[in-house]
Amino acid sequence: MTENEFDIVVVGCGPTGATLANLLGLQQVNVLVLEREPSIYNLPRAVHLDDETMRVFQTIGVANQLQEKTLVNPGMRFIDNRDELILDWPRPADLGKHGWHTSYRLHQPDLENLLRNALESNQYCKLELGQTVTAIKQNANGAQVTYQNAKSNDIQQVNCKYVVGCDGANSFVRSSMACNMEDLGFNERWLVVDVMLKQDMPQLGDHTIQYCDPKQPMTYCRNPGLRRRWEMSLPDSISNEQAVDDDTIWLLLSRWITKDDASVERKAIYTFRSALAKTWCKDRLLLAGDAAHLTPPFMGQGMCTGIRDASNLAWKLSMCLSTDTTQTLLTSYQDERSPHAREYISTAIKLGKLMRTIKQQGTSTSDNGSRQPTRMAAIAPRLGSSHLNKFDLINHCPLSGTLFGQPELADGRLLDEHIGYQPALLIRRMNSEFVKSNPDLKCFAGDENPKIAEALQALSVEAILLRPDRYVFASVTSEEEIEELVSSWKMRLAAVMPTSRRG
Ligand SMILES: Cc1cc2nc3c(=O)[nH]c(=O)nc-3n(C[C@H](O)[C@H](O)[C@H](O)COP(=O)(O)OP(=O)(O)OC[C@H]3O[C@@H](n4cnc5c(N)ncnc54)[C@H](O)[C@@H]3O)c2cc1C
Repeated sequence: MTENEFDIVVVGCGPTGATLANLLGLQQVNVLVLEREPSIYNLPRAVHLDDETMRVFQTIGVANQLQEKTLVNPGMRFIDNRDELILDWPRPADLGKHGWHTSYRLHQPDLENLLRNALESNQYCKLELGQTVTAIKQNANGAQVTYQNAKSNDIQQVNCKYVVGCDGANSFVRSSMACNMEDLGFNERWLVVDVMLKQDMPQLGDHTIQYCDPKQPMTYCRNPGLRRRWEMSLPDSISNEQAVDDDTIWLLLSRWITKDDASVERKAIYTFRSALAKTWCKDRLLLAGDAAHLTPPFMGQGMCTGIRDASNLAWKLSMCLSTDTTQTLLTSYQDERSPHAREYISTAIKLGKLMRTIKQQGTSTSDNGSRQPTRMAAIAPRLGSSHLNKFDLINHCPLSGTLFGQPELADGRLLDEHIGYQPALLIRRMNSEFVKSNPDLKCFAGDENPKIAEALQALSVEAILLRPDRYVFASVTSEEEIEELVSSWKMRLAAVMPTSRRG
């Protein structure tokens, strides 16, 4: 591979691009990441991440450092304009089945710093800052990417097998694919303000509060350290200039804090939108993250959705690099990810609409006549149906396409730490002959790891084959079917990859 040749060019080094590049680097794929900005984007954005996302960061090796900078989120409460609780989304204080807390509060730049540091220490990844991608030409074997240095205006070109557009809401790669977005109907202008408290104010509370008000819904977020966030919808009567004016901001915040309590750290006006790209993969070009989907932030899932894209895509790209028949495996990327992202977006839209209701929607009346808030739980959709799911064994497997938990193994370490970013077989009883004849597949047995036994028992299955992204490929209910399970996985991949996997 020459200096201007890479396996993959990732456009954009936000959380999606940095995660994807790190995962590809783990697979020993040569990646060039081109990022337009000279430094990390510093406007107020993600403040929440979930346990699935944390597992991806665990795989990259940054989860422990990230955890030190986060706060466990006790939950989200929706209250009406009389301060009554109408919808409660409590988050458990204990670790969940994925080995992490189900909900964390974070400062997005903290995460992006960690991801970039990891990227820069991976010998297969190269990050170039201040480089704007200006043209992409596809050819039979790959693509040629042209990019321009923001300072010197120097133009360079690089050849690669695939280009992944992780270049955000106004994606250049998406335009190059001539790809339209499906508008899912949400479109509201909001002001977002991050403040630094001068000292702790416990009375503000640790929960995220969604203030439901038909005139002006608002959100309060308790972020790590002394950082606090307010988001407010903007009525047409307030212009953008007025909204970012400090006097307006302090007036809007006066219900909670004054200038004596805090200083404004960052402020921005966003149009919260909801949209899904119609095409996520066109020949050698692919989209991930905000380039592929946009959601209003009421569930704190925009970035998490991009991290799932990266985890779904990196192993597939890595496998595709050793073959010319790529499209089928990559088609599964959109088939699986698009419906999954849609579920999160439509739930976020419902929450956004709830915040504008006047009626006490979402409440029910208990036996003694008092109103009870509705309780909400996290959603965990299955992956959309793909060719990886479409054959006999899997059609009869209800677990296929669901995210598997992360039990602790007998040595006290979590499952993913043993697996890395590879497929794995979980079985009730160790079978050394089987392990010997399948050296490519890491195997973990219930009789050696009680928590694996418990997990398989709870799901009433004999064995599960996990994909590198921790989603279940398929499961079987008897020992006799295990061979078939493994050969189905191999055949399925072989069917889309006629030549051997990269060594
Ligand atoms: C107010 C707000 C609150 C949010 N809260 C949450 C939350 O709590 N949890 C959550 O999960 N998500 C949240 N999100 C969403 C989250 O911030 C985004 O989904 C996430 O940043 C998207 O990451 P990305 O890497 O896909 O895109 P981006 O972060 O937008 O990164 C794209 C990168 O591509 C670069 N780029 C663009 N064009 C080019 C080009 N031509 N050449 C080179 N580089 C280019 C850009 O400079 C940028 O760095 C929130 C968003 C907002 C606005």
